[in-house]
Amino acid sequence: MDTAMSNQDTQQKDNAQPIFVIQKHDATSLHYDFRIEVDGVLVSWAVPKGPSTDPSEKRLAMPTEDHAMEHADYEGVVPEGEYGAGTVLIWDRGTYRNLKEEPDAKSVAQQLEDGHVTIWLEGEKISGGYSLNRIATGEDERWLLVKMDDEEADARRNPTSTEPDSVKTGRSLKEIRQEEAPEDDA
Ligand code: MN
Repeated sequence: MDTAMSNQDTQQKDNAQPIFVIQKHDATSLHYDFRIEVDGVLVSWAVPKGPSTDPSEKRLAMPTEDHAMEHADYEGVVPEGEYGAGTVLIWDRGTYRNLKEEPDAKSVAQQLEDGHVTIWLEGEKISGGYSLNRIATGEDERWLLVKMDDEEADARRNPTSTEPDSVKTGRSLKEIRQEEAPEDDA
């Protein structure tokens, strides 16, 4: 059986393009978990306001633990008391590529160490170049996620508010809660 395109949720291991996922997470406070595949794990940041398509908008991104690749497909309700308790929705996903393309250019892993990452996203809601720049290190490590000024930039779009639902199932946070943890909505 040719499985190459049979299941959107199956990562294609023969495809060289790494993936990214943005999970909207209604936890203690609502945020967006921005995750990119680097060397077999999902390097992750919590972005309180989510990504913007406007290059003049700088979005704060707090680094969080690396997650296993399997987590990229997770949507549901994490029970109270567990790490990440709250409702998770797959807000966007797709593949990305390193924008540093010269033959001896730094890998994304090296750019992460340097604190300056530029990647091109190919998602369903957002696409184009994004930069991640570390603005503080140590206990207080913080980054900024900013749309680069390219043909995919659009200051008039506001996809976090106009396209709030899951790209995986079309569900809203509320629908996920009602279907997967109905007792919590009582
Ligand atoms: Mn989170």
